[in-house]
Amino acid sequence: MVKTYTKHSSITCLKGIGPAMQKKLEALNIQTISDLLYHVPTGYDNRKQVGYFNVIDDGKKKSYECYIDQKPKVRYLGRGKSMIELSVLQNGVKGKVVFFNQGYLANKLFAGRSYKFFGKLSFFMNRPQLTNPVILSNDLEESVVPIYGLTKGLTGKKLWKWMEEALDLYDGNNLLFSTDGSRITEKEALKMLHFPKDLSEALLARKKLAFDELVLFQLGLRYDNDPQVIQKGYRIWAAEPMKILEQKLPFELTEGQRLAINEIQDDFSKEASMNRLIQGDVGSGKTAIAAMSMYACAKSGGQSVLMAPTEILALQHHKFMCELFAFDPSIHVEILIGQLTAKQKTLVKEKIASGMTNIVIGTHALIQEDVIFANLALAITDEQHRFGVKQRKTLVNLNSRKDIVAHNLSLTATPIPRSLALILYGDMDVSEVKGMPPGRKPIETYVISNALLERMYGFIEDQIKKGRQAYMVCPMITDENELNIMSVEKLETELNKSVLKNYRIEILHGKQPSKQKEEIMANIANGSIDILISTTVIEVGVNVPNASVMVVFNAERFGLSQIHQLRGRVGRGEEQSYCILVNEGKTRESYERMNTLKRSSDGFEIAEKDLELRGPGEILGYRQHGVPAFRVADLALDHSMLRDARKLALQILDGDIAPAVEEKLEDYLRKLEEMSR
Ligand code: ADP
Ligand code: MG
Repeated sequence: MVKTYTKHSSITCLKGIGPAMQKKLEALNIQTISDLLYHVPTGYDNRKQVGYFNVIDDGKKKSYECYIDQKPKVRYLGRGKSMIELSVLQNGVKGKVVFFNQGYLANKLFAGRSYKFFGKLSFFMNRPQLTNPVILSNDLEESVVPIYGLTKGLTGKKLWKWMEEALDLYDGNNLLFSTDGSRITEKEALKMLHFPKDLSEALLARKKLAFDELVLFQLGLRYDNDPQVIQKGYRIWAAEPMKILEQKLPFELTEGQRLAINEIQDDFSKEASMNRLIQGDVGSGKTAIAAMSMYACAKSGGQSVLMAPTEILALQHHKFMCELFAFDPSIHVEILIGQLTAKQKTLVKEKIASGMTNIVIGTHALIQEDVIFANLALAITDEQHRFGVKQRKTLVNLNSRKDIVAHNLSLTATPIPRSLALILYGDMDVSEVKGMPPGRKPIETYVISNALLERMYGFIEDQIKKGRQAYMVCPMITDENELNIMSVEKLETELNKSVLKNYRIEILHGKQPSKQKEEIMANIANGSIDILISTTVIEVGVNVPNASVMVVFNAERFGLSQIHQLRGRVGRGEEQSYCILVNEGKTRESYERMNTLKRSSDGFEIAEKDLELRGPGEILGYRQHGVPAFRVADLALDHSMLRDARKLALQILDGDIAPAVEEKLEDYLRKLEEMSR
C-alpha cells in the first residue's frame, strides 16, 4: 500500500523531523501536514533571472554564473568567525564572491570550475561582489523558489524539502471552491504555490487558495451545527403601522431611508429573526428608521429597546420618540440610564418586566441592571461599533421568552466598504442609507499647511464673534518630542498666545475621568465653551448645532473615514459650516487623500477611497475589530474577492451541504479557533 498523508498527519512522519525540530516548527504553528502546506511563502526568489557583472543592475537578486580563477582563500577573523573569498570571472569581468562563517564551503568550491550563485550584486572597492549568495547545484534550485517565514535553526531549504515530501504523499484531492469553473484540486494548487514554474503561477495559486479560504470563512459565519434549529423571531406586521407613522413624521423619508425600511419590513415578515446592520453617514436619518421599526413592533404586541452609547444620546432619542409617539396612547416609552435614582430604576424595570412599557431607550445601564423584558421582540444598538459583540448579544437576550430570539438592528455612522463589512459583520445583512435629507448645507472643506495657522485663527475668531463654536482635533495629547505633531497640550499653549487667547478654551481627551468628560461635553452643548481642543474622543452622534468649525491637525495621520466622522460633528445647524484640514503630508498619496475629503461628502465613497489608497488596515485598524487571522487570504490583496466568496457560500448553504464540504468546513473552523486563541 502506498503511504499517504492526510491533513491531520503529524509532521513527525517526515524525514528528519524529530522532537527538537518538532518544537521549532511548533513555534511557527506547524504541527500537522496541513499546517505545513499552508505555511504560505512570504515571497519568491526568481532564480531564473540571470545577472551579469557588467550590466547595470536593478538591485534585485539574480543568478550569476561565475568561474573561480584562484584557489579559495579562507581567513579567520577571530571569535570563531571566518571569511572565504573567491576571486571569480563573470561574463569576462573580474569580481569577488564572499562567504562569512561558512568555512565548510572551502572544501566544496574549487578553482578552475564554474558555479551558479544567486544573490544581490554589490560593489566593494569598485569591484562587483556577491556576499553570502546561495550556491545553486541543481535545476530545482534554479527555479522560482519560495521564501518562508523561518525560525532559528530552520532553513528555507529544509522546509522546502519537507514541503516536497509532504506534497508528494498528500491526499488533498478535493476541488477548491471557485466561481470561474476551474476545477483545480487543493493539492494541485498547493503544488503551484510551493513549486511554481514561474511567478505568475505562484500568484494564481495563492489567489485560488485565498478564495477557497474566504468561501470557507463565509460559510463558517452562517453555518449552524444543527440546521434544523432556526432562530425564530417575533412576527411583526410592519406595513400598516409604518405607513401611519410615516404620515406623522415631520419630514418626507429619503430614498435611502425608504430602502432600509423596506428591507426591515421584509425581515420582519420572515420566520427567522433579523440580524441587520444599517450603515449611514451622520445625519442620514437612522433614528427615524429605528423609530419606525420600534413602532411597528409595538403595534404587533412586542417590546423593543434602543441602546445608545452615551446618556446624552439616549436622552436625545427619548425626547424624539416621546414627541413622535404622543399621538398614539398605546405607546409607552421609558428611559433607563445611570443617572436615574435607584427608586426610579426599579420602577422602570418593573414596567418593563410587566410588559406595560413597550418602547425602552437606554445606555449600558440596560445590560448592567438586570433588566428583563416580558416580550422583547426587537433590540437596537445605536452606534454599534461603540459596543462589543457580547454587549449586543446580551441586549438581545434580556428576554423572559425563550421561544424566540429578538430581532437585532444595529446602526452605525461609520460606513465601511461592503467588501469589508462582509468580513466584519459577515453574520449580518447590511443596509446602506445613502444620501442625505434635503436642505442640508454641505460643509466647506479646506486643506491648509501650518504656514497658514495665523490666518485660520483669525477666521475662527470671526466665527466665534458671530456666536459659533469650534472644535480642534489633534492626533495626540502630548507631543512626545515629535516636532511635526500638533498635540492637544501644544495647541493649548499656542492658542493662548494667539488672537484666540481671550476666548473660552477647553481641552478634552481620553485620559480624563468620564465624569469630567461628560461635563465638558455638556458645556460645549450649552454654549459655554467657544473652542474645544481634543483628541478623537469627541462623542459620536452628539448634536451641537451651533458648532460651525472643525479643524483637524496633522490630518495626514488620520484615516479618511475617521476625518469624515469628525467632520460630521459640524454642519448640524442652519449656519454654513467649515472643516479645515491642516495637512503636513508631503506625498502624492496624502495630497490625493485630502483631495478626496475636499471633493466628497459621501462616507461610502470616502471609505472606498481609503481602502484603495491604504488597504483595509486603515479602516479595520482604528475600529479595533477582531479580524480573523487568515492562513492564505490577505485582505489588502483579496478584499475584492469577498463579494463572490459570500455569494458562493450562500448558494452552498441554500442547498444540501455535501459531507466532504462539511468536514472541510469543520476542520477550518477548528483551525481558525485555534489560531485566534
Ligand atoms: P443619524 O443617521 O446620524 O442618526 P439622525 O437620525 O439623528 O441622523 O437625523 C439627523 C437629523 O435629520 C435629525 O434632526 C432628523 O430629524 C433629521 N431627518 C431625518 N430624516 C429626515 C428626512 N427624511 N428629511 C428631513 N430631515 C430628516
Ligand atoms: Mg444617530
